Formats: sequence, structure tokens, C-alpha cells
Amino acid sequence: MSVVSLRNVSKSYPSSTKGGATVTAIDSVSLDVEAGDIYGIIGYSGAGKSTLVRLVNALERSTGGEIHINGRDIATLPERELRKIRLGIGMIFQQFNLLGSRTVAGNVAYPLEVAGFPKQDRAARVAELLSFVGLTDKAKSYPDQLSGGQKQRVGIARALATSPSILLADEATSALDPETTHEVLALLKRVNAELGITIIVITHEMDVIQTIATKVAVMDQGKVIERGPVFDVFSNP
Ligand code: ADP
Ligand code: ADP
Repeated sequence: MSVVSLRNVSKSYPSSTKGGATVTAIDSVSLDVEAGDIYGIIGYSGAGKSTLVRLVNALERSTGGEIHINGRDIATLPERELRKIRLGIGMIFQQFNLLGSRTVAGNVAYPLEVAGFPKQDRAARVAELLSFVGLTDKAKSYPDQLSGGQKQRVGIARALATSPSILLADEATSALDPETTHEVLALLKRVNAELGITIIVITHEMDVIQTIATKVAVMDQGKVIERGPVFDVFSNP
């Protein structure tokens, strides 16, 4: 079953100058991400990747086409239902987006608090998540005491807190050195293999796709210009 399915999805923005042309960020994109995929979306800056992320995460609405998340057409859902959809999608970011005033454990607990997860169960859930990402001994540290790789592992633990079925990684290793990148990608592979979570990896780095993705879509100027198993797409000259 497709967990994320896009049918002829478009997104245009009004021109910033009076009378100017609209900007087409996404142009009739169709895409099917199946359960268990690690699906890479690659493209240069301006290709439309971030816009795609905001549409899939239901942070913005498309201007055309249909987006189904776990079988539900999100275009027609009211805000209350969209919040539930968002809980089912974990996000990790290039700049980690950790709260500097909270400890590692506090950051991982944050989405549980927002979701109203029972207070008495939170500590055990946070401990389980920190153990999974190998940061049990950093629970009481603050983000600025961590390396980049450790920060992203906190980001991953936080993203997994509410047990999403989908993890969206938006340039999640772009701020990391190659060695740390490979550590984080290895952890994402475990998230996929051990927890059965479908992962969408947005990146401009070919190496990331080749290390982790099973399928890839290549974006350019708002369109998917090529797609398929990574091996097929990148072995064609
Ligand atoms: P990428 O993430 O691949 O770099 P983006 O999705 O950020 O690409 O951008 C795709 C295109 O859409 C670019 O031309 C960008 O300027 C435009 N765009 C993105 N967001 C907005 C916005 N909020 N308003 C106007 N134009 C936007
Ligand atoms: P804010 O959380 O103030 O909106 P950002 O704009 O940097 O800060 O965050 C972008 C998204 O990242 C937010 O919509 C939120 O879902 C997520 N996020 C940021 N920081 C945290 C955090 N400490 N815990 C959980 N989610 C966070």
C-alpha cells in the first residue's frame, strides 16, 4: 500500500511583485511511496523539495492535484484531522531545531507533551527512545553540549516519540561531516528495518541517496524528471 501518494500535485505562489507571474514551485508531480520504502527525493536548490515537504506534512495546501497520506486525501480534511495526520509524520531537519533551553530528555519529551501522552508514561518512553539512538548517557545534557551527530540523534528520537509511520528527513545530514553523515544514515536504516518506518529523504547530495535510499525521484524546476530504483536511475549515463 502507498503510504504517501501524490497525483498531479501542483503548488504555485502568487508573484511577489504586482502584476508579476506566479511562481510554480511544484508542477504536476505524481509519486508513490510504499510502506517500508526509503524513498529519496533529490534535486538542486529551487527544485521544489522543501515545498513538497510542506505539502506532505500538511503545513501548506496544494493548489492542484491530490495527496493521500495513509490512504486519506488530506486536501479535504479539516485542521483537526490534519493534526492527527501530522502526528503520524516525524520530521528531522538540517539545523536539528532542538530547543536550547531544554535538556536532551526534555526535547524528546516535547512532542509527547504536545500530544497529551500520559505524564506517568513519558519518562519510560523517553528512556526507550534515547536507548534506541544510543544517547542514554546524554539525557541531562543540553543541545549546545552535543556534537552535530548527537544533536541529529536527539532529533531522530524526538521525531519517533509519537510513533509515526512516516519519517521525513529534510536535508538531515547536510550540516554534518561525511563520517557523521554515515553514522546518522546507519541509524535511519535501523529506524526503517527495526521499527518498520517508511522514510522519505530529501537531499541535494547524491551520496546520501546512494547510501540509504531504495527508490529515488529526481526533481528539477518543480517536476519529477526521473524516478525508479536507485540502481536503475543512477546507472544510466
Ligand atoms: P528546494 O527545497 O528544492 O530548494 P523550494 O521548494 O524551496 O526548492 O523552492 C521551489 C521554488 O518555489 C523556488 O523557485 C522558490 O523560490 C519558490 N518558493 C518556495 N516557497 C515559496 C514561497 N513561500 N513563496 C514564493 N515562492 C516560493
Ligand atoms: P517553533 O517550534 O517555534 O515553530 P521552528 O519553526 O524552528 O520552531 O520549528 C519548526 C518545526 O519543528 C515546528 O513546527 C515543530 O513541529 C518542530 N520543532 C521545533 N522544535 C521542536 C522541539 N523542541 N520539539 C518538537 N518539535 C519541534
